[in-house]
Amino acid sequence: MNNVGISNWSGSRTLAGTVVTPTTLDEAADAVARSSHVRALGSRHSFNDIADSEETLLNLAHLAYRHPRLSTPTDGDAPPSSVEPELDESTGRVRVTGSTRYADLALFLHDRGRTLPNFASLPHISVAGSVATGTHGSGIGNASLASSVVGIELLTADGSVRTLTDADAELDGARVALGALGVVTAVTLQSVPAFDVAQTVYGPAGFDDVVAAFEEVSGLGYSVSCFTTLRENTFASIWVKRAGGELEDAWPAQVAGSRAMSEPFHPIPGVDPANATQQLGAAGPSWDRLPHFRADHMPSAGEEIQCEYLVPRQHAVRALEAFRELSGPLAGLVQVAEVRSIAADTAWMSPMYQQDCLAFHFTLVRDNERVAAALPHLDAAFGPVEGRPHWGKVFDADPQRVRGLYPRRSDFVDLARDLDPQGTFTNAFLRRWVF
Ligand SMILES: Cc1cc2nc3c(=O)[nH]c(=O)nc-3n(C[C@H](O)[C@H](O)[C@H](O)COP(=O)(O)OP(=O)(O)OC[C@H]3O[C@@H](n4cnc5c(N)ncnc54)[C@H](O)[C@@H]3O)c2cc1C
Repeated sequence: MNNVGISNWSGSRTLAGTVVTPTTLDEAADAVARSSHVRALGSRHSFNDIADSEETLLNLAHLAYRHPRLSTPTDGDAPPSSVEPELDESTGRVRVTGSTRYADLALFLHDRGRTLPNFASLPHISVAGSVATGTHGSGIGNASLASSVVGIELLTADGSVRTLTDADAELDGARVALGALGVVTAVTLQSVPAFDVAQTVYGPAGFDDVVAAFEEVSGLGYSVSCFTTLRENTFASIWVKRAGGELEDAWPAQVAGSRAMSEPFHPIPGVDPANATQQLGAAGPSWDRLPHFRADHMPSAGEEIQCEYLVPRQHAVRALEAFRELSGPLAGLVQVAEVRSIAADTAWMSPMYQQDCLAFHFTLVRDNERVAAALPHLDAAFGPVEGRPHWGKVFDADPQRVRGLYPRRSDFVDLARDLDPQGTFTNAFLRRWVF
């Protein structure tokens, strides 16, 4: 199938490349060999031009594993073949095709008593695409999804497959690779024994109360997220997700002065909570609690544009104040904003490289022009606190500032030139922000 003008998941951006949909790995290798510029597509949940190509867009949906309990595609993609993941029971390592969505992998692992340590806010996204952009969930002790990667198989421009494992120093360059090294055909992840999580949503809480008790609030559970519309001086909801021994403890009577909600809540105030994962303290499998959105429902708002900055945790107080000040410049644009915690990792191009971070995320209205006009305000707010833009979301910054935030950037560029000397997997996004 060839098609031009495919859009991203939210419909906020049309990709310029021509889509080619291989049904086998050999067809994928053929498509790469025939193109001078190629980018692989994941589930197209990115908001900027990171996935775009001046020539070929490789849709790998047919090579994804689809769990039978999620047999209906939620994203309109062609039905995939069921390429079973391979779980090594002795090590807990699971090898999965790159285009497989976390939802399908989570169910596969669940059936075998295993899971992954953390998930993003939604499980609808592909493993390779998420890992490539440094996608993360929340939790002071939880690092990005890329930190579970122990092996990557790359289809390179000459058609050969290169495998990197945790025995190779370069794996840290290939974890958050922004699609620059080749087509990720398979990823091996370290799974953990399955565990339960229960979530209780508190709110609303005063902005000052949350800032004053921020370390305590963000340490209340395995994963904590604080949501605000920035319209009132409050956090509308604080999502506390508990695991392991925390499940034995009584829930706090109050969080930053707010009480537990007695009804389910959607992260975006006023939206039907049917799409949100189960709350009210009911324990269940971690893959069905750590994401905010249910695997079999549409996540978030759909009509939206997202941006996000990752800020070193040492700047938490200044960053939270800068965040609050954005209520003016972002007036009329914010559907909801979220503050999360992420632990440091070791991936060279990860925004969390060697530093614990806070994530300031914004779900904005789907109005490209008005959002573009507001983006410099976001960079002005978070730039002075070393904020790194999320690789898969929209941002407007000085490219020199962004490049300077990554101490291993030149090692990454060397790795890309080694694996892809002709620049087949390079695009305008990479030329602007990385190379
Ligand atoms: C509703 C919603 C909620 C979100 N929640 C979160 C969140 O909680 N945390 C967070 O950090 N982010 C979040 N995001 C952002 C999202 O996780 C990232 O944009 C992620 O990259 C999406 O993965 P994808 O499979 O859609 O990748 P795509 O958008 O399809 O691609 C992203 C990049 O990965 C590359 N890529 C994809 N597949 C391959 C492959 N097989 N080989 C090589 N390169 C490949 C592409 O070329 C591109 O450069 C959210 C986005 C949405 C829409």
